[in-house]
Amino acid sequence: MKENDAITEQMCPLCGRFYKGFPAISRADNKTLICPDCGTREALGSIGVNEAEQEKIIKIIHASSKNGTGS
Ligand SMILES: [Zn+2]
Repeated sequence: MKENDAITEQMCPLCGRFYKGFPAISRADNKTLICPDCGTREALGSIGVNEAEQEKIIKIIHASSKNGTGS
């Protein structure tokens, strides 16, 4: 049985990666669908978080959402 039948893979126009699940909407034009990571980056950038900090935060989000063995 397929678990993710209803979830189609989409390509993020910002980073070019394929992702599954709910897209985020780009703040740049309010209509472009982007991956959750880029959505997080835009949100963080909008509050003044620099790119290095954005990447750190995204790694933390990934580590906690996997709920497994982080390093
Ligand atoms: Zn992206």
